[in-house]
Amino acid sequence: RKGSVVITGASSGLGLATAKALAETGKWHVIMACRDFLKAERAAKSAGISKENYTVMHLDLASLDSVRQFVDNFRQSGRPLDVLVCNAAVYLPTAKEPTFTAEGFELSVGTNHLGHFLLSRLLLEDLNKSDYPSKRLIIVGSITGNTNTLAGNVPPKANLGDLRGLAGGLSGLNSSSMIDGGEFDGAKAYKDSKVCNMLTMQEFHRRYHEETGITFASLYPGCIATTGLFREHIPLFRILFPPFQKFITKGYVSEEESGKRLAQVVSEPSLTKSGVYWSWNKNSASFENQLSQEASDAEKARRVWELSEKLVGLA
Ligand code: NDP
Repeated sequence: RKGSVVITGASSGLGLATAKALAETGKWHVIMACRDFLKAERAAKSAGISKENYTVMHLDLASLDSVRQFVDNFRQSGRPLDVLVCNAAVYLPTAKEPTFTAEGFELSVGTNHLGHFLLSRLLLEDLNKSDYPSKRLIIVGSITGNTNTLAGNVPPKANLGDLRGLAGGLSGLNSSSMIDGGEFDGAKAYKDSKVCNMLTMQEFHRRYHEETGITFASLYPGCIATTGLFREHIPLFRILFPPFQKFITKGYVSEEESGKRLAQVVSEPSLTKSGVYWSWNKNSASFENQLSQEASDAEKARRVWELSEKLVGLA
């Protein structure tokens, strides 16, 4: 049978390119888990994904009710879950004030980390039930959360500190809206959320890989300077960023190429190792990359996991 893969945020950028790459093989049915149904349908159509290869299902990661509703709807669809890709994200680098999810978590960490945390915890059961030969749970990471890289050293740097803001619920009321308890900074909140994504993948691996055989993985697909991720940035940045990445840092990757990379992590028989953060070299060959000290801190991963469980109502 065809593999069945759920991709969050498949209505644009990396998620859409991955959906297209997988659908084109004829071996996958893609469930596009998106907050804007019409946008997702239009995106699938204009990417030329044929109807029998995809289904759009509603998911708004900025609402835990919506996450639970998605899981119910998915189960009712009767489709198996063979691979889950947590890809959606928001990036709010120019926001002066924090904005919040339905439950009152700062929006970047609330969407990118907490929404996906609840989704992946709930869907672990469904992955477990699948009889697919290579089951995978993939959480998209980023170089920007990794302070052992040049890109990760552009201020403001990711830093989860002692997690006091996360413990306080990121509400901006009685606690800070930032994980480390500091002043709101939209660019930093995004980077922090990506550190949480990479820590979560490793904690999944430690807790569940042996018992379930599921492959847990993260990746940095390259700098896809043209996606909607930068939509909130100032216009000059949006004009200069793609050529800067192409000609100066040479980290630029097209949406199509990035989609092929993530599709490899979904389906390549050679990429079944669990607990790995994949990257690609200049010749587009995959390799196991090193994470920064913070992004590979097992004690921090455990604490982020436990605090997140409380916030999303699992503990
Ligand atoms: P895009 O902005 O193009 O895509 C993000 C997707 O997330 C969109 O489909 C968007 O939906 C969706 N999304 C946002 N908020 C929600 C929500 N509340 N509920 C459901 N879906 C939501 O960005 P990219 O394709 O660049 O980003 C995809 C992933 O790649 C992210 O995890 C990002 O961190 C990562 N990444 C990107 C890099 C880059 O250079 N672009 C580099 C490294 C990692 P909608 O279409 O409705 O807005």
